[in-house]
Amino acid sequence: MPLSRPRRAVALAIASALAACGPASEDEEVALGRETAAQMDAQLPLLADPLVTRYVDSLGTAIARRTARADLAWRFAVVDADVVNAFALPGGFIYVYRGLLERAGSMSELAGVLGHEVEHVVRRHSVEQMRKAQGAQTGVSIVCSLTGWCQGPAAQIGIQVGGSLLFARFGREAEREADAGAFDNVRRSGIDPEGMRTFFEQLAEEERRAGGGAEALAWFADHPGTGDRIAEIERMLGALPADARAGLAADDAGFQRVRARLAALPPARRVEGMPGS
Ligand SMILES: [Zn+2]
Repeated sequence: MPLSRPRRAVALAIASALAACGPASEDEEVALGRETAAQMDAQLPLLADPLVTRYVDSLGTAIARRTARADLAWRFAVVDADVVNAFALPGGFIYVYRGLLERAGSMSELAGVLGHEVEHVVRRHSVEQMRKAQGAQTGVSIVCSLTGWCQGPAAQIGIQVGGSLLFARFGREAEREADAGAFDNVRRSGIDPEGMRTFFEQLAEEERRAGGGAEALAWFADHPGTGDRIAEIERMLGALPADARAGLAADDAGFQRVRARLAALPPARRVEGMPGS
């Protein structure tokens, strides 16, 4: 599908930066992420409610600061759309959709998702995936899938395509690594990783109830091996020493204030035409 001229120019610029040889330096990775994030911010309907956005950003940043890439300028934003998804851009720019936020019942359930996206950045999955593109055309098509610029009207940008395709493209091994990393990331932050299990099970149950047509469950349902992911988290929980979870937090008052605020806001916009619908 043809790109509009300015968007094509940006996509080509990113693609040519990606086509360079050798691993991306951290400066290159951050520049790529910052440029893509600026475009995303301009196109996505970001939630502007400070109580909600500050909470998500501070929880995400607290988790990220306990990782090997603590020094990145981490930033977490909330997309005001009823989609269960989240995605990470190179350099530490992370987006969580309101549909996912609203399904989480506790701080530790949200923390598991944030810890997972953080791990994709820590392991450079996002930037490596973009670097794999050989030549501008492939680069453009990846930028298209990241941003949704090549798909339909601007209102559907990214909401529809950005998160789910980026996520699906990581592949099973990268997702396994991100889940394992999330488990450790939340524990290091004093948060109970049990939240990962309960949230995954809730999403799996919602997927079952929807009869496989769970169009809004992209973060979870687009992935191979849903049952395997839950089993692996149960294995990791079972392998912890008996007292390892003592003192870890499952929830906090701030998260419950966020839940109350979200319930009082006008509902998130619904997105038609999600994959699987
Ligand atoms: Zn992932």
